[in-house]
Amino acid sequence: MEAKQLQALKQNNALLCQFIVRLSAFYEGFSDKIDSELKVLRGHLSGTPNFSLATVSIEKLNKSLQRQEITLRKYSVDTVSSLEDAMKQLQKIVFEDNELKSLTTQELIKLNQPVGDIFSIYKLYAKAIALHRIALNKEMIGLEPSNEIGSSAEVQQSVPTRSVQDDNPHYRSILVELNHLIASYAQKKQNDQQLNDIKQRLDEGMSEDQLLKSCVVILRMIVQDAMSEASLTGKVIQSLHRSLGEVSNDVNIAIEDSQAQFEQRKAGTEQIKRHISYIEETVSESESLESLKEQTQLRVEKLVATLSEQQDNDEQGQEALLALLSSMQSRIDTLQQQTSVYKKKLAEQAMQSRTDPLTRLPNRQAYNEKLDAAFANYKEYGATLAVAVVDIDHFKSINDRFGHAAGDKTLQVVSKFLKQNLSEKDFVARWGGEEFVMLLPESQMTEIDKKLNEIRTKLAAMPFKFKQEKVKITASFGATCFGKEDTTETVFERADEYLYKAKRNGRNLVVTDLSTDL
Ligand code: GH3
Ligand code: MG
Ligand code: MG
Repeated sequence: MEAKQLQALKQNNALLCQFIVRLSAFYEGFSDKIDSELKVLRGHLSGTPNFSLATVSIEKLNKSLQRQEITLRKYSVDTVSSLEDAMKQLQKIVFEDNELKSLTTQELIKLNQPVGDIFSIYKLYAKAIALHRIALNKEMIGLEPSNEIGSSAEVQQSVPTRSVQDDNPHYRSILVELNHLIASYAQKKQNDQQLNDIKQRLDEGMSEDQLLKSCVVILRMIVQDAMSEASLTGKVIQSLHRSLGEVSNDVNIAIEDSQAQFEQRKAGTEQIKRHISYIEETVSESESLESLKEQTQLRVEKLVATLSEQQDNDEQGQEALLALLSSMQSRIDTLQQQTSVYKKKLAEQAMQSRTDPLTRLPNRQAYNEKLDAAFANYKEYGATLAVAVVDIDHFKSINDRFGHAAGDKTLQVVSKFLKQNLSEKDFVARWGGEEFVMLLPESQMTEIDKKLNEIRTKLAAMPFKFKQEKVKITASFGATCFGKEDTTETVFERADEYLYKAKRNGRNLVVTDLSTDL
């Protein structure tokens, strides 16, 4: 060989050796074993190359590379399938969020396309992490997703603008339940500030904790309402207490569960964050493809497991909360029904207990209550107030001559007559027997004297007929106004005294404060 040819061959050899040294340095990081063998090869080819040692090294490398080629393909398939799992899991979680759902679907489509090189797997990882981060932020911190998902793992965080649970179907059901719970109260208490606040916040959106607190506020309202309406018998109060105790128990359980669930969720989120940052670290720091593969696969599996566990917990917790809310609601419904039935019964009872069964006029108890109220009003405002007592004359003889039934009928007719001849503001009650009592407010005694005399003459002129016999029914009256020193007793005593005077002076007579001649 000529010296010139030999020189050219040496130069080509040196060039080739340099190229192999650079190329092997470039591919460093592929695997530990190949890395160390490449290092050995670089040693043999650097400076004065030792080709016989380099040939041994190249043979070893050839074998390793053949094996590695198979491993790399497997790595790609495994990685893509674990990423696919993670994305499918994510898709389930974000199925209500159209934007995130479409991004996840796009990512899944990409995952189904053939992977070109190992760097495209890095890109797929980066996107998967970015999407998980957005889902995590939306779910837990209430952040909107960024408009564009770039190829980098960096995700822009946007400003919180709306409630996180808007996209959560369970949360919405709870909202519906709460809305239902307050519906009946909203009508009843239109000006209630607390209720209006809750209604407004319901429209604007609130967190699960706020939602639960609102439930408690509504329940308290219902409890207070039920108790104030239930100034009832001991038995009714006991039954209401029992029902309220159950409701209050439900609320306590719901709060405890919610707190426990919150803690669980927080722990789950922390775990997911750790997995994500670990994957990021692994991607950026991993020295060899082999260890990157192992670590990321492991972490993605854990991430998927945590997400799935968290989703299960959330679903269970929310379902339990829903069940609890609806059971509370049905208990409250029963409670309200019970209360309104008792209220009706009580109102009827109250009415009955204050009404005289024969004449349907208010009885003595109703009169006493009315008198106390009128007297308090008189004391406070000083407007005139008079009491009149009325007694049918010789009533006993009606019973004696025509029978007790005729007497009863007479009492009914006279009662109706008295009521009809008094004005709206006046009040008449059956005191007992054939005696009546009247409360006459806002009238001067001259007016009262005139009015009672009109009633007296009108009654005397009324045509009564028993056993074909025309009977004249008359009554005597005693009326007096409250004075400064008077009590309810002294006024009644004076009116009764006047009535007695009317009887003594021939009956069918009205005696009042003005009757000075008697
Ligand atoms: P005076 O003019 O003095 O008031 O005579 P009087 O007969 O009306 O009074 P007295 O107190 O002597 O008799 C009242 C009678 O009224 C006696 C009682 O039998 C009768 N009486 C009381 N309550 C009822 C009732 O609910 N129905 C009937 N039918 N009679 C009654
Ligand atoms: Mg009498
Ligand atoms: Mg009488």
